[in-house]
Amino acid sequence: MIPAAGAGDCAPHWPRRLTVLGATGSVGRATLEVVAEDPGRFEIEALTAHRRAGELARLARRHRARLAVVADPAAYGELREALAGSGIEAAAGPRAVVEAAMRPSELVMAAIVGAAGLEPTLAAVRRGAVVGLANKECLVSAGELFVREVATHDAVLLPVDSEHNAVFQALAGNPRRHLERIVLTASGGPFRTASREEMARATPDRALAHPNWRMGAKITVDSATMMNKGLEIIEAHHLFGLDERAIEVVVHPQSVVHGLVVFTDGSVLAQLGPPDMRVPIAHVLAWPSRLATGVARLDLVALGRLDFEAPDPARFPALTLAREALRRGGGAPTVLNAVNEIAVEAFLAGRIGFLDIARTVEEALATPLAAVRPGTLEEVLRLDAEARTWTRRRLRLAGQHGSADRA
Ligand code: NAD
Ligand code: MG
Repeated sequence: MIPAAGAGDCAPHWPRRLTVLGATGSVGRATLEVVAEDPGRFEIEALTAHRRAGELARLARRHRARLAVVADPAAYGELREALAGSGIEAAAGPRAVVEAAMRPSELVMAAIVGAAGLEPTLAAVRRGAVVGLANKECLVSAGELFVREVATHDAVLLPVDSEHNAVFQALAGNPRRHLERIVLTASGGPFRTASREEMARATPDRALAHPNWRMGAKITVDSATMMNKGLEIIEAHHLFGLDERAIEVVVHPQSVVHGLVVFTDGSVLAQLGPPDMRVPIAHVLAWPSRLATGVARLDLVALGRLDFEAPDPARFPALTLAREALRRGGGAPTVLNAVNEIAVEAFLAGRIGFLDIARTVEEALATPLAAVRPGTLEEVLRLDAEARTWTRRRLRLAGQHGSADRA
């Protein structure tokens, strides 16, 4: 699904026109930091956010964007006011986010969190754009459909997720028939060495204290449950066309080796780098060229050692649940993702315990919802909505329409 190396006619010409979906988030801001290091190379077409209009307007002015969009219509007034006199267009609403993705930029950074990113990212795919994919939930929720659309519209999908970007780099143009399996590394998160009892008592603050990466709240909790790695197994399946059994997960607490490729002759190629998203982001922004970044360089001697261990399925059941959803296919991954999103929100709001997140996902996978086989985008979106409703009822959150958006 990802492009073969070489990339011929994809070679970038500068300046490159860029749209960032989810510009106020952790990946969005890191993207704009990389851009700011070499501003002559990029023109910003559009920046979007959920509802932080002031922050979005500041970014839009700083990067001379043509358009700024908030998904929440209630934030429109604030956005217009903050952009007054700048000449930057303002728009609001989920449809306006989709339209921003349709504007003629060469590269779209898809960095919205959650299934909310599915429609805008698909809109970029459907006009054959180069899409830097940070939003893993859209591949988990609608993987087969998404991959089909990429092929139909000759879009180019470049993985931003550090492990997948590492695998993409380590594949280094080798023919697929020489590929045996890949290895995704996982930091193990804040509970790598915690007991089940400690995990049962874990507060949001504790789950948000990631040892290596600074990321948005949702993915940080996903890292703590290791659902993040489960979602990444499904993401890798779609990106690299690999069977679930050919995707291995290894815990690597230093987060320096991001991904490895094992070839049929026993050779293993890995990509290493500091745990800083600006590295894979820069790779995607310039691909198939490279950009200079000011990211701190790896100091192997200072590091001294790299450790690897097997993940513990008893303390991190989310990994097994994601593998099961992938094996079952159909709507099972859609349900896994939707239920996880709502359960993570509920955990962050103090409504459920940490271990309830995976427990709720497990229960949902046993319901008839997980046996639905959606064939169209509309059916995926309907199943996603039904799974969210099921979860709110199950967790007695009825009437709550909170959002994991803290950005
Ligand atoms: P974040 O919470 O920091 O930012 C999310 C962005 O999405 C914000 O700009 C927010 O305004 C926007 N957003 C949220 N809900 C929205 C909605 N309903 N409609 C439109 N926009 C909405 O998240 P993040 O950590 O930057 O992660 C973004 C995506 O990248 C996630 O899918 C995550 O799994 C993936 N990812 C992140 C990292 C990382 O280091 N942060 C690494 C790998 C992959
Ligand atoms: Mg990752």
